[in-house]
Amino acid sequence: MFYKSTRNKDLKVTSSEAITKGISDEGGLFVPEEIPALSEDDIMALIPLSYKERAKKILALYLTDFTEEEIDYCVEGAYKDAKFSSEKIAPVVDLPGTENGHILELFLGPTCAFKDMALQLLPYLLTTASKRFAPDKEIVILVATSGDTGKAALEGFKDVPNTRILVFYPDEGVSAMQKLQMQTQTGDNVAVCAIKGNFDDAQSGVKKIFTDRAVIEKLAENNMMFSSANSINWGRLVPQVVYYCSAYCDMVEQGNLFFGEKMDVVVPTGNFGNILAAYYAKKMGIPINLLFCASNSNNVLTDFLTTGTYDRNREFYTTTSPSMDILISSNLERLLFHLSDENDEEIREYMNLLSTTGKYKVSDKIMAGIKENFVAGFSTEEEDKDTIKSTFDNGYLADTHTAVAINVFNKLGTDAQTVIAATASPYKFPKSVLTAVLGEAPDLDEFDMTEELSRVSGTKMALPLAGLKDRKVRFTSVSEVSDMQKCVYDMLGI
Ligand SMILES: *Cc1c(COP(=O)(O)O)cnc(C)c1O
Repeated sequence: MFYKSTRNKDLKVTSSEAITKGISDEGGLFVPEEIPALSEDDIMALIPLSYKERAKKILALYLTDFTEEEIDYCVEGAYKDAKFSSEKIAPVVDLPGTENGHILELFLGPTCAFKDMALQLLPYLLTTASKRFAPDKEIVILVATSGDTGKAALEGFKDVPNTRILVFYPDEGVSAMQKLQMQTQTGDNVAVCAIKGNFDDAQSGVKKIFTDRAVIEKLAENNMMFSSANSINWGRLVPQVVYYCSAYCDMVEQGNLFFGEKMDVVVPTGNFGNILAAYYAKKMGIPINLLFCASNSNNVLTDFLTTGTYDRNREFYTTTSPSMDILISSNLERLLFHLSDENDEEIREYMNLLSTTGKYKVSDKIMAGIKENFVAGFSTEEEDKDTIKSTFDNGYLADTHTAVAINVFNKLGTDAQTVIAATASPYKFPKSVLTAVLGEAPDLDEFDMTEELSRVSGTKMALPLAGLKDRKVRFTSVSEVSDMQKCVYDMLGI
């Protein structure tokens, strides 16, 4: 199987090249030239398997230039038992207080957010792919993060041979817990730097360094090359397809669905990566009916999916579900490409309009495809808080992002058995969750708050977070945005 670009459909690259490069030269995103199909028998055969075995089967359909041994090695390394707090890796549990709601827990990995599902696997895929595509080069990963991605990438890449990783975060733009997670990061090939600016400054700074000729040449002289760990890399999307296939199998195995019965899926959405993975699972033949796109107050996607007009010219809100505070959802480009019947010229036009005017309207054809597959809704801050409280009263403790999805599920309603993606541990956002549960903000520091949350909810604090308190702080530097390039050179020693 080969991959083409959303902005040049004549391109033909292997999955190794797509994963190593991250983004296509003309700025498009890599997509599979054909979405592989699972027959009923194929799906039936997945049901008795473990998560890892299911993952190997699904990945083999997409990564056809990887050998079976390579896929084995990647999956076994990524989803080692010790790294996830459930041997099921991504279990499905019932949502109490509902007839048909089920929670797909994607936050049981080392950093307690769903990004681990992909970022534990990506370093293995990337180093395996680059061995073939760019042998002997050291891979340098630069990340700009608003919190979750940076930590998950650090944890995934730490001490991976032939890689270096450097993460920039906005000094005042991440939660106390997220900051401490990054400042205490272990590993010999990692570095973390705060910047005096917001997330957009960090992101544009990284992009600039990434595409700067002089920097690229200097890296090449030292036998190094950049690659990307952000969510447009195909190597981050494909591991996410696995858990929707796996969730269907678990739903059948647990007696929630008869084999062949369709389920709905609800996803708390930001960059449109997670929900796009569910779309791929549906297109592969997994019996999925509707995909619910759940947004917070930054509801650009709710408007787009209901009207067909994407308009980023609106107020940006800082919410209690920060990982969804996004106005440009990069992975949407892939969906538009598929729904336009791969009309790369049309996609170039939309993306051009997005960068010049911040706005575009899609064709009737694309709109018909959207209506067939998606519904959309959003949650206000008040609704999110109320949902955490009522869900807790019913017997489940959800984080702020997951609650956005539960609220949209409750509001839009469906008769189908429904899987709701839970994307973070409530212990990652202890202040917001505890405030919602208690009805008022407690006057405690971050760690006392997690202990209080554990006491009030009768749930156990996520282990990787509990350990943070005693870990050594290693990275405290704060840099001017204009000095980011120097940080990169310093870290690489070039
Ligand atoms: C990244 C993230 C999201 C959004 O996922 P996308 O793939 O960007 O749509 C939702 N919840 C949490 C906790 C996240 O970290």
